[in-house]
Amino acid sequence: MSDPSNLDLLSVAQAIAILDAAPAEPWTLRKKIGDAQGYRIAADLVADRDYPPFDKSAMDGFAVRCADIEAVPHELKLVDEIAAGGVSSRPLQQGETMAIMTGAPLPEAADGVVPVEFAEKLEGSRVRLQQKPTPEKFITRQGGDCAKGATLLRTGDALHAAQLAVAASVGAAELEVFAAPRVGVLATGNEIVAIDQTPSAVQIRNSNNVMLVSLLKRLGCEPRDLGIVRDDPLEIRASIELGIAGNDVLLVSGGMSMGEYDFVPRVLKDLGFQLQITKLRVKPGKPFVFATRGKKFVFGIPGNPVSGFCCTLRLVNRVLTRLAGGKIDESWRHAKLTEDLPANGPREFYQPAKIHGDELTPLAWKGSADIFTLAAANALLVRAESEPARKAGEIVTALEIPQ
Ligand code: AMP
Ligand code: MG
Repeated sequence: MSDPSNLDLLSVAQAIAILDAAPAEPWTLRKKIGDAQGYRIAADLVADRDYPPFDKSAMDGFAVRCADIEAVPHELKLVDEIAAGGVSSRPLQQGETMAIMTGAPLPEAADGVVPVEFAEKLEGSRVRLQQKPTPEKFITRQGGDCAKGATLLRTGDALHAAQLAVAASVGAAELEVFAAPRVGVLATGNEIVAIDQTPSAVQIRNSNNVMLVSLLKRLGCEPRDLGIVRDDPLEIRASIELGIAGNDVLLVSGGMSMGEYDFVPRVLKDLGFQLQITKLRVKPGKPFVFATRGKKFVFGIPGNPVSGFCCTLRLVNRVLTRLAGGKIDESWRHAKLTEDLPANGPREFYQPAKIHGDELTPLAWKGSADIFTLAAANALLVRAESEPARKAGEIVTALEIPQ
């Protein structure tokens, strides 16, 4: 592993600096709130009024003036009932109570609520309380959750169930969101066949496109499966041109190294793309290409599926997230190693691993084609370049695989 040529390669940190400097600008569109799931909001969302908009009971019970009740049991006169959506007929007076429902507005002069479980209705419109009320308990005052004008969601926040509920609360029936990046996914390789075809003894099925489409969806993109192209420069050129025309980003797998049939980097150059990255000091994933032409981006990832997966999650995602209007929000985990690890080689290493609780078990590394081990992993253990051996019990860092 002490290949001196590794020194000519870019480190992951250098690659990230290049990726983060690329002119990835999101564009926006309007979405009905029902169709906005998963998009990122393109403007701050502000509270249109106080929440709650009135002093509210948080319980089904009886509104009281706490000073009336020195000790329990204590009886009060029942003078009204306030349902959610209703209002009391008048302020609460000394010696009185009003039945009140969860979400109903508190009558004027009340400062406490005794839950229905601690009260008993008696003959002659009287109520006996068994719990001494505490002022303000079971009451949410107007603006107590958030005040009018408060920023509720910030530009770039992803819209999932709770965020959509916030948007619905303030009446945002339509939302300005960032468009999901359109990402074409193209496989290359004479040996690759579609998954519904029977491969010959020396062919393999195209697992990359399905894998990448799935991962890209999870990363908030709109992927398009562009199929397979043969290792032929003219065919590759035509497929790349077509793929980039209708998409913001093109993700090409395979054909990225220096082999006789690795045409992609050359074709990209011929098409006027600038090759910003061509090789990385990373394992898996050495032949990683990042090419730009204006605001079009092409990523070339290794054909080996584990390499392509790691590169997409760790590197491609950085540009995609910015194109989607977001900030990088990888989930890094720190966990205790369950077994010893040998020293790492000169390349930053992403090893499939399983995190359970606060422990991490590295999974046997059988190479960058081994999707079977990857399928059992929920994280990628990250080992620094030339990191020394690690002992069981040491804390290591891993990148969570989004599920
Ligand atoms: P390459 O990067 O083109 O040299 O391919 C490296 C390895 O990945 C080879 O063993 C290929 O057969 C394999 N490979 C390439 N493309 C795919 C694909 N779309 N699906 C599964 N394996 C692939
Ligand atoms: Mg190939």
